[in-house]
Amino acid sequence: MGAKTSFSMVHEVHVVNIEQASNSELQAELAALQTKYSQLRSLGLKLDLTRGKPGSEQLNLSDALDGILQGDYTASDGSDVRNYGGIDGLPEAKKLFGAMLGTSPEQTLIGGNSSLTLMYHTLEFALTEGIAGSQSAWGNSDSVKFMCPSPGYDRHFAICEHLGIEMIAVPMLDTGPDMDVVEGLVREDDTIKGMWCVPRFSNPTGCVYSFDTVERIAALGKLAGENFLVMWDNAYTVHALSETTSTLAPISELCAKHGTADSVFQFGSTSKITFAGSGVAFLSSSERNLSALKAHLAFQTIGPDKVNQLRHVRFLQNLETVFSHMAKHANILQPRFNSVLKTLDAELSGMGMGSWTRPEGGYFISFDAGPGLAKKIVQLADDIGVKLTPAGATYPYGDDPQDSNIRLAPSFPSLEDVQACVDVFVVCVKLASVQQKLS
Ligand code: PLP
Repeated sequence: MGAKTSFSMVHEVHVVNIEQASNSELQAELAALQTKYSQLRSLGLKLDLTRGKPGSEQLNLSDALDGILQGDYTASDGSDVRNYGGIDGLPEAKKLFGAMLGTSPEQTLIGGNSSLTLMYHTLEFALTEGIAGSQSAWGNSDSVKFMCPSPGYDRHFAICEHLGIEMIAVPMLDTGPDMDVVEGLVREDDTIKGMWCVPRFSNPTGCVYSFDTVERIAALGKLAGENFLVMWDNAYTVHALSETTSTLAPISELCAKHGTADSVFQFGSTSKITFAGSGVAFLSSSERNLSALKAHLAFQTIGPDKVNQLRHVRFLQNLETVFSHMAKHANILQPRFNSVLKTLDAELSGMGMGSWTRPEGGYFISFDAGPGLAKKIVQLADDIGVKLTPAGATYPYGDDPQDSNIRLAPSFPSLEDVQACVDVFVVCVKLASVQQKLS
């Protein structure tokens, strides 16, 4: 249910910077914020800024998928896609989605509708059976650890927790994971078996890994112990918000240079290109890894949904048409991101109450409040009808040691609701910050 904030959000400014404000200025600000907060409560809002999923306007962009085959079910290799088989996907799907990941069809496998499923299967396979034979199974050791650049994607962390893989948080910089920390850890501890990465428009900071970071990650397979795996989740590879965005170094080429192709699995999907619930997921890795994984998958399925793969290839066609399709998504998403960023800038810039990212793509804005405030802010917002991603969700085990990170996801609500959410959010940030300062 949407709601309008029926009064101006601008209020008399008592505090310029929380660190420089006098006690009486803070008291005056607190009183003004409490009045504002009560007014917001009286609006009976019921809003949600938690979900990193496309809105219906975005889903509508791909409605032509429905019926696109017009009775022609024959793939480029002559096979009938309605039938069983083709465990690694259609040739034309491997070509298109391999290109999206910057790899070749031979290094690409097409799965079902979810890249998360492919990631889960890959990790479970590496853990229990071993990608290079049973002697390589991580589970042969008592301890298996994974590096988790944080803030990061909660579902990655949930997979590790579910599989009993111990997580080590690694700081995220503007250039990607702190590689000095990463390299130090893998040098010291050979029970570290891998690392999560969302290299382009990272969830939630939006950063694009620098060339140097990608090269150092590509080289990890040499530095780390045996059977080390980089889980390169390129979920937002074509999800730029404008035409001029930073490019990502091609990890496949850098792996070829360092002789580490076996140590990287790349993942992607069309979940946020076409339909989030019925898109196509894909992965790329070395031919050795792919044939091992294919043999493993053959115990679970006779083949993926190739009708959907063919629909997608006919609809998306090639990389150029994918980019023009993504520009339509950007036209819908950009105003939502602008609404959040303009309000944060206007209401919180220079106040000493937090910092936030300005992503060039992806689905999220990452907000860092003052230490010890994220849970409080999320609670304050929830109490007056605005749901935010639970504080801590962006860290392994749901534990943000600073209790400061909050993920904002502006894609799903209407533009009007995004504005209402962020109006509430800034009041909650200010209220929590001033209360903490006064206490
Ligand atoms: N990877 C990242 C980084 C995501 O943010 C998401 C969804 O939000 C996914 C994967 C889920 O992908 P899929 O829908 O292909 O399972």
